[in-house]
Amino acid sequence: ASQYDVIILGAGAAGLMCAATAGYRGRRVLVLDHANKPGKKILMSGGGRCNFTNLNSTPANFLSDNPHYCISALKRYTPQDFLELVDRHGIEHEEKAPGQLFCKDSAKDILNMLLTECEWAGAEVRMKTTVDRITEIDSGYRLSVGSGDLTCESLVIATGGLSIPTMGATAFGYRVAEQFGLDILPTRAGLVPFTLQPELKDQLAPLSGVSCPVDVQCHDQHFREPMLVTHRGLSGPAMLQISSFWEPGDSLAIDLLPACRIKDDLLNLRKTRPQSTIANYLTQHLPKRFAQAFNELQGWTGPLQGYKNSDIEQVADVLGHWSIKPAGTEGYRTAEVTLGGVDTRQLSSKTMAVLEKPNLYFIGEVVDVTGHLGGHNFQWAWASGVAAGNSA
Ligand code: FAD
Repeated sequence: ASQYDVIILGAGAAGLMCAATAGYRGRRVLVLDHANKPGKKILMSGGGRCNFTNLNSTPANFLSDNPHYCISALKRYTPQDFLELVDRHGIEHEEKAPGQLFCKDSAKDILNMLLTECEWAGAEVRMKTTVDRITEIDSGYRLSVGSGDLTCESLVIATGGLSIPTMGATAFGYRVAEQFGLDILPTRAGLVPFTLQPELKDQLAPLSGVSCPVDVQCHDQHFREPMLVTHRGLSGPAMLQISSFWEPGDSLAIDLLPACRIKDDLLNLRKTRPQSTIANYLTQHLPKRFAQAFNELQGWTGPLQGYKNSDIEQVADVLGHWSIKPAGTEGYRTAEVTLGGVDTRQLSSKTMAVLEKPNLYFIGEVVDVTGHLGGHNFQWAWASGVAAGNSA
């Protein structure tokens, strides 16, 4: 059997970062992946420009059943650290929204940087390789792959989550965790568009393609970001963000005019321009097509002078707390991330190793740490990859 110090399963964001880090420590590193090319999700991320980190990332930007777990790794490898690496490779980037850094040119730059780092660190990346069996041996682990057996002292699982199966996502990491007796927390799609009941979908159909800034709330979470109506349902950053907190049966409360004091505005308008309509008010603050279609949907007609105080209160309530019950989400087919996964209570927050088996590591999306939209998920992949790479 060919011997390695470290074998990493998964040539994605976390796996490649871990490989370079371990390689620079002088470890003999091999990365295995079943796909034909490494880092496919990096290439498709951020609309092809890869939102590779978020300068404002803090542990509060992550969901986990064990919220303290991510703190240590995120503190030891920061967005600034990754940015320095990007700058060293001369990759041009831009801040598209506050803190969100994207490649100016292409996500390919980030993948090439990681592959270059692996090469400089002497880490080998082998694609189109499927691991049939993992066996624990005295000195570590034996992996059965098509071409024979491989052994390693340390084994790192970086096979990611379940989102976008067409990009090669599998449940492999969860199966390995189960094989070694670890608990898996229920998984579900996160950062994913909502689908709507047929009736509401048809009513909103005329709004398809329209985007407007909203404040959406579900449980105790809310996000003030753009919402996009699509021909399938509701999307855009606001909806993707809140989807990670939504559970089947929950309603969303959408404030369509988060920058306005709606009731005061309408009372004021009735006094100063009694002939104006609610549609007039909406077109001042919302994209015209959205304002008209939403007004039609609600059946608001006639000048404001015909509205009693209680009518105005009701209109303000609909605009400020538009309640929608999604039918569901688009699921793993289009989700950016997978919530849940390997329970972090059984892992070391310093090294990402299994507490009972210090030579077995889990990093990246396969573990129960999921970031908000905006570069946080890659930051977790880098930070957890470095933490494991410094130990494996
Ligand atoms: P991955 O990058 O998914 O890598 C896992 C690797 O394991 C893959 O190469 C896969 O082929 C391999 N693998 C899987 N199963 C097996 C197996 N059985 N055997 C061998 N190999 C296997 N996050 C951001 O922070 N910013 C963004 O802009 C952003 N945009 C995104 C856009 C889209 C469309 C999607 C889907 C996700 C986006 N994300 C973004 C999330 C981000 O891509 C992931 O959080 C991140 O890639 C997780 O890294 P990972 O290394 O854990 O897993």
